[in-house]
Amino acid sequence: MDFLKALPKAELHAHLNGSIPLPVLQQLAREYYVAPDTDSDSSFQTEIERLREGVVLETIEEFFTLFTTIYALTSTREALARVTDAVLAEFLDPIGGEEYPQATYLELRSTPRETIAMTRLEYVETVLDRVERYLPDQAALIVSLDRRMPQEVADECIGVAITLKSRGRRIVGVDICGHPTAGDMGFFERQMSAARAAGLGITVHIAETIDNTPEDTLKLLSFKPNRLGHATFLNEEAQAIVIREKMAVEICLTSNFLCKTVSDLETHHIQYYLKENHPIAICTDDTLPFRTNLLGEYAMLLAPTPYGLGLSEGEVEKIAAMAHGSRFQFDG
Ligand code: IMP
Repeated sequence: MDFLKALPKAELHAHLNGSIPLPVLQQLAREYYVAPDTDSDSSFQTEIERLREGVVLETIEEFFTLFTTIYALTSTREALARVTDAVLAEFLDPIGGEEYPQATYLELRSTPRETIAMTRLEYVETVLDRVERYLPDQAALIVSLDRRMPQEVADECIGVAITLKSRGRRIVGVDICGHPTAGDMGFFERQMSAARAAGLGITVHIAETIDNTPEDTLKLLSFKPNRLGHATFLNEEAQAIVIREKMAVEICLTSNFLCKTVSDLETHHIQYYLKENHPIAICTDDTLPFRTNLLGEYAMLLAPTPYGLGLSEGEVEKIAAMAHGSRFQFDG
């Protein structure tokens, strides 16, 4: 473990609202004001209890319902700032007397949300204010678009990302996330080319489930993303593009196993990319529901088969370097 702890690790695929430390979320739930005659506090407690015990998902569909409770608890600027601080600290500060932080660099991603208490611009500014308390070579923000977003909301999010980047704020890229089969990716063409023209990096969740069609996958690849989230079910045509264009793949092992999109390490698509010597980044995705951390994800590389991939320290070092090499650039 000492080798893994000391290894410089870049976390490139972590969703803010999926990475909140459980005690922080529990505290927010305790403080949440619930009007008399409603029972939403007890439904919160049920959901949080579920998270505390560790979620068991039958399918990836169930995963997305978890966010209703989390979103209700992070809908003010104050709560958002608090959870962002907690997520940043969890990744970037050495905790509990540890000598090393979990990650030496974090690209945190989040979907701008309009709530009764804040606009999407305020949402992103609130998160950025916290991110920018760390050095540029430690933390940066990726703005996520949700596949379900209407056009005008996607336009607004990209507009916010581009405007804030032009003011020197630390937004380094954009992402497309959300329910893997929702929406029509053709609608995101305009936003993706605007992001690219503004010098933002592009990463997209792609082929996350077996139900993703080849058309959906090829459309997403046509945006010329620099990186890909998951890329679990690529067909040969898509694989050839990914390899040729050297699109780095963000690999989230525990997330894939718990969402049941991959059954074991032996059949995991990481094997293919390792064989191809293709750039990958080991990431956590959502530490809150998946009860994982970056160290645990890396431990699976080193552990002997069948518990892990049985890689050597040298090979793991090389993988960690690939993640650092796949960072989006900050030119502010
Ligand atoms: P947020 O963007 O900070 O609000 O983080 C939570 C959001 O990330 C969820 O509502 C999902 O849209 C998205 N998300 C988290 N994990 C995944 C995933 O594995 N696939 C697609 N979207 C995801």
